Amino acid sequence: MLITKTDYLEYTFCRKNLWLRKHKPELFVDVEFSDFEKKIIEDGNLAEAACRLLYPEGVLVESHHGQAVIDTKKVMEEKKTIFQATFQEDVFYLRADILCFNVELGGWELWEVKATNEVKRKVPHHHVNDLAFQKIVIEACGVKVVKTGVIHLNREYRKNGKVVNCELFIESDLTGEVTAAEEQVKGEMMQMKECLTLPEEKGCACVYEGRSNHCSTFAYSNPEVPEYSVHNFNRIGMSKKKLIDWVDRGELALTDIHNPEDLNAAQKLQYESYVLGKAIIDYGAIKEALGGLVFPLQFFDYEGYSSAIPMFDGFGAYEQIPFQYSLHIMGADGEIEHREFLITEPEGDLTLPLIERMKLDLDPNGTVISWYSSYEKQRNDKLAELHPEHASFLKEINDKMFDLMTIFSDGYYVDPAFKGSASIKKVLPVLVPELNYSVMNISKGDQASERWEKLILASTSASDKEKIKRDLLDYCALDTWAMVEIYRVLKGL
Ligand code: SF4
Repeated sequence: MLITKTDYLEYTFCRKNLWLRKHKPELFVDVEFSDFEKKIIEDGNLAEAACRLLYPEGVLVESHHGQAVIDTKKVMEEKKTIFQATFQEDVFYLRADILCFNVELGGWELWEVKATNEVKRKVPHHHVNDLAFQKIVIEACGVKVVKTGVIHLNREYRKNGKVVNCELFIESDLTGEVTAAEEQVKGEMMQMKECLTLPEEKGCACVYEGRSNHCSTFAYSNPEVPEYSVHNFNRIGMSKKKLIDWVDRGELALTDIHNPEDLNAAQKLQYESYVLGKAIIDYGAIKEALGGLVFPLQFFDYEGYSSAIPMFDGFGAYEQIPFQYSLHIMGADGEIEHREFLITEPEGDLTLPLIERMKLDLDPNGTVISWYSSYEKQRNDKLAELHPEHASFLKEINDKMFDLMTIFSDGYYVDPAFKGSASIKKVLPVLVPELNYSVMNISKGDQASERWEKLILASTSASDKEKIKRDLLDYCALDTWAMVEIYRVLKGL
């Protein structure tokens, strides 16, 4: 069994998960990468390809496994810069992003390319430990490593014309930190090697963590934990002591807990609605919140796109580009009107036509209603930065924006079926069961982003473009229509 640097990083995050991956791969067969995870991988590959352009003399080792180790040695004899230099020592195996010879220091520089805006020093993406693992293995193969570092994206860079790779990427020399981390990493590598030869551990550490920390194998490792358990309590990760106490006492279902009086306000509502088996509604608070809204009510939602290598002028790495909006307008008489905008031909000033349409479609006197409004507000702030001439309009919208999600996140309406969440994907099926995202061709934001990327590609056929355009408009319209219907249900209370 070979152990790669990805395995090592995984081990430092969760040794049980690594053990299962190595010994019970069948548990991961049905676990597909989400569109978001796929995009991260793709962004990483694109950043690595772009970064290689900074080393035009570099040679890529294209072979794999044993052959790649042999090919690496050959290229190293000529002291050329190497991409994907491959090493194996004992069970440890790695492919280094960039290795280049430093004549002055008489040894090799090891550079790791990361599609991140900074050096990360926390598991599971600990860049220093990642490099230390590589340095240990490479030096054990008899190669002198004189410098180690990360080449990552420059968060200050904004595209202006052609992407300038030497400005987009920054070198962070981590030689000192990596050397200091070596002893600890060596110890972890030995422990990891031993751990993988041991029998399977029972349970796993996440039994003491909130639901958001659990990976796909949690139910396998902890079959005694019900699907809706004390781990689902709102923000239970912040009250670890309580969770540990319940788990140690074997109080795993919400109804098992011995001390409901110790729950915080949000958790208490969640608990009570679960015990009662029905929603707990604060009619007065909802009436007051909705009573402050000014007609016309404008239910508004953006869809956004981001990429590691910025694609559009004015934007930097991973900056969200609003490429679409949907707007349902409700007059005081209850009449509804729908407006929408989608960038289909990204030419010239990308976002100016979007703002110009917003100015025609939105009435700054009425309340703009969104769900998780900090997302919409941040997009408006970015648009204002790019187009200062429209800043006052965008600021006015932000100042008057109402976040419909707060009705649920502030505990004015708590239903056991929300399972402690205030996400629209959890709220909508309970309040408006006839509206359903699962029947849509696009049902999630990251999928919309991936589809838009395809829509603007010159190589996409006209008929595919037409279909994607329809799907995107339908998806975004459902987001705002869902808000209209949720508002109506709340108002009807
Ligand atoms: S649920 Fe948590 S502790 Fe258990 S295997 Fe997954 S990540 Fe590790």
